[in-house]
Amino acid sequence: MENGVLGFPKSDEYVTKNDGRGQGFEGGLIYWHPDTGARVVRAPIAQYWAAADWENGVYGYPIEDTQQVGCGRYAQRFQGGILVTGIEGYLLPYNSVDGREIAYSAAFTDQRSIDAWRDAVREWNTMNAINVKQSGAVGYDLTVNEVNLPDETYSGQYQNFGPLPDQIKLNRAYTDSYTSTQRRVVFVHELGHALGLDHSCDSQIMGPSDSTRTASTLQDLDKAVYRYRWGW
Ligand SMILES: [Zn+2]
Repeated sequence: MENGVLGFPKSDEYVTKNDGRGQGFEGGLIYWHPDTGARVVRAPIAQYWAAADWENGVYGYPIEDTQQVGCGRYAQRFQGGILVTGIEGYLLPYNSVDGREIAYSAAFTDQRSIDAWRDAVREWNTMNAINVKQSGAVGYDLTVNEVNLPDETYSGQYQNFGPLPDQIKLNRAYTDSYTSTQRRVVFVHELGHALGLDHSCDSQIMGPSDSTRTASTLQDLDKAVYRYRWGW
């Protein structure tokens, strides 16, 4: 029988770990287990799952079907975490997370900056795994402030200083003319860097440029990369 998503079978059904079942198709796999139901694993994700030893490895069985998440990428949640195709390109080698928190110190003069930063923090905190919070008097991981630098080309910038507090700057030379949504997006994007996310593509908050980015809220690949790095 032809499966609508995956084409014709390439194998007979076979027995998998703990009395599950698997079957290969032209475009991927279908795996079934009594705990997780029948799930479609499309070929690009199956390659990553295979490299992690299928259901026998740390990922275990799939608990959802393969999803398209933007930038031509796929993601899929398994019992042991999430797999994301091309994930290597979307993770920074550094971040500002310390003990599953980012404790920040913010210094703004403009109420619009205060509002935009508050909303950006709230947006990432809905993801739950890392708590971004205002720090006490000492011991912060990140400072956030405004600059006014018309000769620079950035609207916002994240810099990682290793063991010292990292920094996010909002460049008012540009952002004073932005809408409130655009200012919030600048902060959501820079805070994404502080969470260890690298640039992706224009459909995502982590798209590289204010002028080409189309997203105004967190998108599927933004979320998938965060989940891959930090879990739930
Ligand atoms: Zn950036």
